[in-house]
Amino acid sequence: MKDFNYTSAAARVIFGAGSLRHLEREVEMLGARRALVLCTPEQIGIAQAVAQRLGAKAVGLFPRAAMHVPIETARAARDEARRLGADCAIAIGGGSTIGLGKAIALEEAAGSLPVLAIPTTYAGSEMTSIYGITDAGVKKTGKDPRVLPRTVIYDAELTLSLPVGLSMTSGLNAIAHSAEGLYAQDGNPIMSLMAEEGIRALAIALPRIKSRPDDIEARAQAQYGAWLCGTVLGNVGMALHHKLCHTLGGTFNLPHAETHAVVLPHAIAYNAAAIPEALAALRRALGHEDPPRGLFELAVRLGAPSALSAIGMPEGGIERAAQLATQNPYWNPRPVEREAIAALLRRAWAGLSP
Ligand code: NAD
Repeated sequence: MKDFNYTSAAARVIFGAGSLRHLEREVEMLGARRALVLCTPEQIGIAQAVAQRLGAKAVGLFPRAAMHVPIETARAARDEARRLGADCAIAIGGGSTIGLGKAIALEEAAGSLPVLAIPTTYAGSEMTSIYGITDAGVKKTGKDPRVLPRTVIYDAELTLSLPVGLSMTSGLNAIAHSAEGLYAQDGNPIMSLMAEEGIRALAIALPRIKSRPDDIEARAQAQYGAWLCGTVLGNVGMALHHKLCHTLGGTFNLPHAETHAVVLPHAIAYNAAAIPEALAALRRALGHEDPPRGLFELAVRLGAPSALSAIGMPEGGIERAAQLATQNPYWNPRPVEREAIAALLRRAWAGLSP
């Protein structure tokens, strides 16, 4: 058995369909009286309902969360929080909205502006202390314990409105966190258990949601998987797959979750010979003898994109991406070699099976 270090970060999780009804109690438990509610313009309806539920304990609504947290938006939200004297940020939405909550918390003295997250996608940002802010087109990411949401309410009813396509790619994005968590350099047995269970739950739930998007049991199971996968992302380091996705997303402005969906089978195939224990866990979790193929077939079955060419990557960008991904690579179980990465990207670009 491999040696390991394990530190758990404290976050309170309230799980269950309809659990939004506990919001007022949870805000009180944070000692907050003046919440600022954050959302994207698309989710203003549900955010207004949240503010109404809180009555006088909600002092404002900031409905301008946007993908990749532009610095101007983060500044405007911080100014609004100060102007209103907010003592808590409630982020209801996906990774973009939760990312905005993190950007506000980052500027405050430790613990002075707690974030209460109500995730409505499966991206998992609510369980991590990783933040990202985009300044002049460049996304800077970092880790800071202040940004970790203090309370997370997982209410599957709020995911019923997540369109099927987004549900599938968001779920595959979550699976990617756990797949890499299974072979993380700083992995540990608890995270491996969570990773395997998270993948298993999502691999069962996503096909059910695809055929019946209003299946609340399947929605809850997917959220359970997303919670586990987000926890893995927040606790162990990521490797080649995440490096490739960040490079492709940043360089060619490819959509976040779709890029994860396309790249994952290829990244796992690249690492396969170096990760026997992770492959065994993936076999159990996916119920498939050949995990890279299993992941590819799952994405196809879910109707997710399976080619980088289909989500906006120019063929001429393959060599550049291979070069960028091999400069300052993350730790990876197999050495990251430029020619082999270019070959991986060519297959992923064309939508071939790994
Ligand atoms: P998103 O937050 O960008 O949401 C996509 C769209 O779906 C938005 O318009 C949103 O309003 C809408 N939406 C979300 N939930 C909905 C629902 N239930 N019903 C209807 N519409 C809904 O998407 P995402 O994939 O959750 O987040 C992606 C972003 O999060 C990226 O910027 C990524 O880098 C970041 N992220 C960060 C971490 C981290 O640990 N910091 C982890 C994962 C993702």
